[in-house]
Amino acid sequence: MRAFVKGSSEPLDGAVRQVDPPRPGPGEVRLQVAACGICGSDLHALRSDPGFEWLAPPVTMGHEFAGTVVEVGDGVVDVEVGARVAAMSIQGCLDCAVCRRGTTQLCPSRVVVGLSYDGGLADEVVLPARHLVAVPETVTLEHAAVAEPLSVAVRAVLHEPLVGPGDAVVVSGPGPIGLLSARLAQLGGGEVCVTGSPADVDRRLAIASRWGMHTAVVGEREPAEVLGREPDVWVEASGAAPALRGAISAVRRGGAIVVVALYADTFPFFATEAVRKELTLRFSYASAHPEYVQALALLADGSVDAAPLIDRFDLSDARDAFDAAYAGSAVKPLIVPSPGDGSKQAS
Ligand SMILES: [Zn+2]
Ligand SMILES: [Zn+2]
Repeated sequence: MRAFVKGSSEPLDGAVRQVDPPRPGPGEVRLQVAACGICGSDLHALRSDPGFEWLAPPVTMGHEFAGTVVEVGDGVVDVEVGARVAAMSIQGCLDCAVCRRGTTQLCPSRVVVGLSYDGGLADEVVLPARHLVAVPETVTLEHAAVAEPLSVAVRAVLHEPLVGPGDAVVVSGPGPIGLLSARLAQLGGGEVCVTGSPADVDRRLAIASRWGMHTAVVGEREPAEVLGREPDVWVEASGAAPALRGAISAVRRGGAIVVVALYADTFPFFATEAVRKELTLRFSYASAHPEYVQALALLADGSVDAAPLIDRFDLSDARDAFDAAYAGSAVKPLIVPSPGDGSKQAS
């Protein structure tokens, strides 16, 4: 079968290879992958950026995927062949105090499918049945692959919600998680302004406009000016340290900031400014099982439409999908292995 493999620690050493199809061990299932997204952490991982030294290539990448169960290993009782499922990307041990608190994504022994072990950028993938989420009938498996980034937005925006009806909300960073967070803030009654760079205008900010949101290009117009008032809530999804610093200055007294991005840089932080404004500053990392279920429910009832974000690529063209993502010309590249091609040959 075909798999997109990061071959070594050399930056950008990744290609589609023929590999042996995996077999499920006890407690595991084998999925035929229907769709697998590529996200920012994949771009960092393939480039062997700082923070990804722990990877042990060769490894098949891909952690945002959905598919159909085609084989179950010994001891799997709650998942059947034919089930339509989405994978949880960050997988806790489910046994430690952190996992028992419900925050499996913070587990000290967590692993990530597609980084720690072979993932879903392939015709087939094997993973533990306990890290699967059932996909509702009305959600296509392609859209279900977007449940992973949507679940991250759900945790940032809806888990302990900060956005109320009529609130002015800024979302900095119009990548998939920023756009999905903006949509959830809008569903919560917020008047939303999404900010981005000039390069984001044609694709990413256009999606925000189509969803009825305001947009602003950083350096051209302040979001507070676009909204006509100081923001009540700011969701920082860009990963640019100046954006977080700007949020602390711009949010109204008593307002809130949710940080859902990861940063390559540090920055000086004058806490007194935030104290005197009595800001709520909250950090949100990835997601756990309840947020996946909620994400799939939002896709099922039409509250969130994943379609505008998706750029489809065949599995054989996975490398082109990475290049399009590096160039910023794709929003959410989605690898769609074509059944009857690689996967059927392999079985
Ligand atoms: Zn991801
Ligand atoms: Zn744990």
